Amino acid sequence: MPSERITISEVGARDGIQTEAAFIPTERKIELIDALTATGLKRVEAASFVHPKVVPQMSDAAEVMRGIQRRPGTRIGAFVPNSKGAEAALAAEVDDLKVGSAASEAFNELNVRMPLEKNLAVLRDIASLAKGSASRLVGVVGTAFGCPYSGPVDVERVARIVEAYSELGIELTYLADTTGMASPREIRAALEMLRPRFPAMTFGLHLHNTRGLGIANALAGLDLGVRDFESSIGGLGGCPFAPRAVGNISTEDFAHMAVQMGYSVDADIDALIACAKLAEEIVGHSISGMVMKAGKSTDLHAVPRENAAAPR
Ligand code: ZN
Repeated sequence: MPSERITISEVGARDGIQTEAAFIPTERKIELIDALTATGLKRVEAASFVHPKVVPQMSDAAEVMRGIQRRPGTRIGAFVPNSKGAEAALAAEVDDLKVGSAASEAFNELNVRMPLEKNLAVLRDIASLAKGSASRLVGVVGTAFGCPYSGPVDVERVARIVEAYSELGIELTYLADTTGMASPREIRAALEMLRPRFPAMTFGLHLHNTRGLGIANALAGLDLGVRDFESSIGGLGGCPFAPRAVGNISTEDFAHMAVQMGYSVDADIDALIACAKLAEEIVGHSISGMVMKAGKSTDLHAVPRENAAAPR
């Protein structure tokens, strides 16, 4: 019987904010991250140690790491594409070095500008840098369910990456639907193929809501016993390398569903809604979260005086 506890990895401050066109001031990023860790979330991604020319929004990664409050029990994560990024992230005492390869070659070339096998060699360098430090590597497989440039992705390509991650001692891998191409069928097929082959690996899901299937895909994962999910507060985000991508599933929407279904999550829904409103204020435009607008399903409303007939 799988555990009823779900661990949410909050990625809004990285996956979300990195696609904002206007530069978000460092102190506001810090404010959002501190608010997120204060909710009790156990994993919060804070930055990406990428070349500032590639993702200018993340150019203040080291300052953000210096400015945030570290809460015992919350692991702070950051994306690291190469050794240089890993050195900076290790110096900043990042707990979880998020490393990624895309299952699609076309996407990999765009995202990290190198073919898969070369990228896996880079990840080996990162792993040797991290060896002996207090940080661990966490794997992400991008475009695990389809690529906007090359179409369907062979699950054997995903398996090749997971195999490489296992060899690096990685114990947790998020399968990412980077541009929202999966339906519950693909989620199920991938998990059913990968889990028996990699029994020591914990698989999580990183889902984008590009075609409105993010929560449906999360539910498919939940039903199969997945208990690790990446989501972003208020549904912030998109992807700088994916045409018309939209954000991750919204943390508070997903947590709201999970709690309503009887699962437990690490944060209070009201606290998450407050964070989503803060995120919306910080980015300065409306974001896609729904529970932040509608309120919780348990929030009851007074019957309108003018029209007291029951609503239909
Ligand atoms: Zn993403």
